[in-house]
Amino acid sequence: MAKNDAQQIILDFRKRRTRQQFAIAVTLLCMVLLVLVYRRPDLFTEVPKSLISAAQIFLIGVFIVFTAINWRCPACKKYLGADIAKGRCPRCGARLQ
Ligand SMILES: [Zn+2]
Repeated sequence: MAKNDAQQIILDFRKRRTRQQFAIAVTLLCMVLLVLVYRRPDLFTEVPKSLISAAQIFLIGVFIVFTAINWRCPACKKYLGADIAKGRCPRCGARLQ
């Protein structure tokens, strides 16, 4: 593999990791807000609890779909999973960091 390709993989992975961290932060923030609205429906406007539950399920669904698309190895395009120990792809062994 050429040096440029290896660098491109590392750069691509960095972008994917940043996007993933951003998505986790946004999802957690939205979840906290939804739980807050669920517990204190009087806090904002009257929101039906069924709508809040639906919003939570939708949010989790969007996060799962986003992760399935984003969290892939730039080299082999396979899902990275939770364990990317030593900064390498667990599937193809490409250096990611
Ligand atoms: Zn890979």
